[in-house]
Amino acid sequence: MDKCSFCGQPQSKDRFLFAGENAFICNECLENGYEYLQEIEIDSKLAKPGTKFEPVLHKPTEIKSFLDNYVIGQDEAKITLAVAVYNHFKRLESKNKKNKVEIDKSNMIIVGPTGTGKTLLAQTIAKFLNVPFCIADATVLTQAGYVGEDVETILTRLLQVADYDVKAAERGIVFIDEIDKIARKSDNPSITRDVSGEGVQQALLKLLEGTVVNVPPQGGRKHPEQKFIQVDTKNILFIAGGAFDGIERRIAARLRTNVIGYNSNDKEVALDKDNLLQYLSQQDLRAYGLIPEIVGRLPIIAHLTTLNADALRRILTEPSNAIIKQYVALFKMDNVELSFDEKSLDFIVQTAIDLKIGARGLRSIVETILNDAMFELPSQPEVKKLKITKKYAEEKLSRINVDKLIG
Ligand code: ADP
Repeated sequence: MDKCSFCGQPQSKDRFLFAGENAFICNECLENGYEYLQEIEIDSKLAKPGTKFEPVLHKPTEIKSFLDNYVIGQDEAKITLAVAVYNHFKRLESKNKKNKVEIDKSNMIIVGPTGTGKTLLAQTIAKFLNVPFCIADATVLTQAGYVGEDVETILTRLLQVADYDVKAAERGIVFIDEIDKIARKSDNPSITRDVSGEGVQQALLKLLEGTVVNVPPQGGRKHPEQKFIQVDTKNILFIAGGAFDGIERRIAARLRTNVIGYNSNDKEVALDKDNLLQYLSQQDLRAYGLIPEIVGRLPIIAHLTTLNADALRRILTEPSNAIIKQYVALFKMDNVELSFDEKSLDFIVQTAIDLKIGARGLRSIVETILNDAMFELPSQPEVKKLKITKKYAEEKLSRINVDKLIG
């Protein structure tokens, strides 16, 4: 019977043999070999870190102007973020200069409805600063030892983005998305074991505080012979984001209590009820189910506001990489001059509002409207121009099931 020339095992139900000239190799030995090759590659990168990432220090006003090119509105959050990042870099510099005053790290939390630009803000700022950036989804994390990903895998991603330049990764930015989804499920932590809520928060806490973590270089499950790369998280800036659905109710409750408790004799305090997020405090985050230690490690709070029609309209056309600009460029490659009239743009915005799909939905609406043209025009070189009118857009959208857009 044929056997693997490496491990000597015969062919079986789970073991395939690949035949070569006078030799065989089984799938398992191939996989081991591949893993080994990857390890060598990572080792060589660790030995010779690149210089792809040279952090650049910019003034807060410069950071804000850069963000303005990509993110529409959300001025308050932009300013808070710009200052936080600037201070973070100053803190790094002061360490290099062995300053006597130790400046604390200031991680940040951005709260706002989904699709209002939380990820976009973090992503854009990382691009500007030229530091490694990764997005981690808090919902897939579980407490060590349970099914799901260990929190260390967040740093695996950061290392991969940094091309295993540990020094660069150690100054990177990590965006932890959907942090609200790991809120404590019940007020009494001892009732059930909360492996995807409080357990993860506890595990994350160490990363946020700053610690040396053993990171599996290729992620996945930890196994005994695995080599780890040590990453110090002390200088990594963590930005957490979440929609915190329903947190307005808690803010309102707190404000009401305060008003009754302390201001009962004062004249009525005017609250902007349509935008309660502006009053968000650490207390509300704790009431929502983030443990006090985590809240304490995310001292800078910013909030994003729902995007109104005017903002959505601007998102379509204004940012440097605005959706409409992207499609115009795509059509240009087929020598077609694409344009949209004003009414068609208003119609696209109104559709996104009606379907409650916000900024995230704008792209799928435009894609759907242009789909037939993108299919047909490359074979019709005689067509040199395409002007999208409201009628054209309505007609294309009427032909599809809008549920597809809601996704
Ligand atoms: P979330 O707040 O859920 O993290 P994202 O930042 O992922 O939302 O936004 C989803 C998409 O919507 C972005 O890729 C971008 O195209 C668009 N978008 C959302 N908010 C804005 C904004 N303020 N300015 C420009 N584009 C935005």
